[in-house]
Amino acid sequence: MSDHRQPTADPATGMHDHSPELLALVDNVIDYSRRRLIFDDVPLDKPMPERELRRLAPGSITEEGIGSRRALAMFENVLAPACVSIDHPGYVAFIPSAPTKASVAFDLVVSASSVYGGSWLEGSGAIFAENEVLRMLANEFGMPESAGGVFVQGGTVGNLSALVTARDARRRALEAAGRDRPDRWIVICSEESHSSVRSAAEVMDVRVVTAEADASGRLHGDAVRPLLEEHGDAVFAVVGTAGSTNLGLVDGLASIAALKDEFDFWFHVDGAYGLAAALLPELRECFAGVEAADSVIVDPHKWLFAPFDACALIYRDPVAGRLAHTQKAGYLDTLEGDDWNPSDFAVQLTRRARGLPLWYSIATHGVGAYREAIRHGVTVAHAVADLIRARPELELVTEPELSVVAFRRVGWDASDYDRWSAQLLDDQLAFVTASSHRGQPITRFAVINPRTTVELLSEILDTMK
Ligand SMILES: *Cc1c(COP(=O)(O)O)cnc(C)c1O
Repeated sequence: MSDHRQPTADPATGMHDHSPELLALVDNVIDYSRRRLIFDDVPLDKPMPERELRRLAPGSITEEGIGSRRALAMFENVLAPACVSIDHPGYVAFIPSAPTKASVAFDLVVSASSVYGGSWLEGSGAIFAENEVLRMLANEFGMPESAGGVFVQGGTVGNLSALVTARDARRRALEAAGRDRPDRWIVICSEESHSSVRSAAEVMDVRVVTAEADASGRLHGDAVRPLLEEHGDAVFAVVGTAGSTNLGLVDGLASIAALKDEFDFWFHVDGAYGLAAALLPELRECFAGVEAADSVIVDPHKWLFAPFDACALIYRDPVAGRLAHTQKAGYLDTLEGDDWNPSDFAVQLTRRARGLPLWYSIATHGVGAYREAIRHGVTVAHAVADLIRARPELELVTEPELSVVAFRRVGWDASDYDRWSAQLLDDQLAFVTASSHRGQPITRFAVINPRTTVELLSEILDTMK
């Protein structure tokens, strides 16, 4: 280290040399990763109050460093157990993540390889592989050959980037037609749309107009039509959801897409959680209409079994994305041209080649294994819905469409759910949280993990008697 008490270390490169200490550090870190990666019975773990962490893991940031062994021991013994294991089979809250071992192992390679994933000039090999995956996904969704895009950090950035492109494309189209820009742009979505759509609108300073979903919670074209008629050119995009986060429902995408024959708008499909299920032939019909989308997102860190963090953003016409997002600067001019530069398609510049872990895992196992693993979630969700229907104290909120089962315990209020949820975590059985639907408290299981079984979920239901 660049410590004056270690005169033998080169002060400039002490952190980059091949000393025995640094080689031991690498071995220890890789050994820890290896153990964590192949270990199947990971504890669920739970959060710890900050004052406890201060007591148990004090003073790690110092001028001289505490040394690799102490830092790693602190992580292994104190910090890691204070993080919930999102790959635990009992983690069924929010949208879980259950990366394949191939994808996690390869995530280490992505870091070790020092790839810059922003420009073809620097990262062509990695970008080629990422694009192979995007191509496969675009094909599965029925998008045209020309479709393409980029892996971004998450669905939130994916939605924002798509909507920025949508507005830019509408602005250009209006200008080309000699029409005026609206005073305030409008994006149409439904109440069940993800919070990130509202957040994107906030960032973009555009207005959100909510179209009413049907009784089940799905948005259809007939609810969007009057809003398009009313707001005309001010509407730059309509967002359909392919798998709502709370209930797992797919909007009537085909009926929304059909409105494109009569109205000019950008059709964005937010499939961060659910669009992965379009890989199942038996469910493809639920997603009819997605092939007509101008942009779609799906998060590999949700139902495509990749580690955090990755969202696939795919444009029908990638040129629109490039026009909206390419950053201009003298020192970037050398990157202009026909090269495929992933930085140009979203709100980002420097980027990790975050699609590579997914590429490696799909290349290894084949798409068929992915279909099987996704199918598991749907099968388990439907089996658990049957169990819920058979229990008088429980009530389904709606029939599951994908792999989310939303239900309520008759007679429970919000505090009952919270107490129950805290107890499950204390008992280290499961991570399930309360949610709400139309102002009423509910809870839900989101089944992603291939190791989440009907038996385990049944055991959780037993705790609600
Ligand atoms: C999770 C989710 C998002 C946000 O994705 P992040 O990766 O968490 O940013 C957006 N839309 C839907 C439907 C989601 O389920």
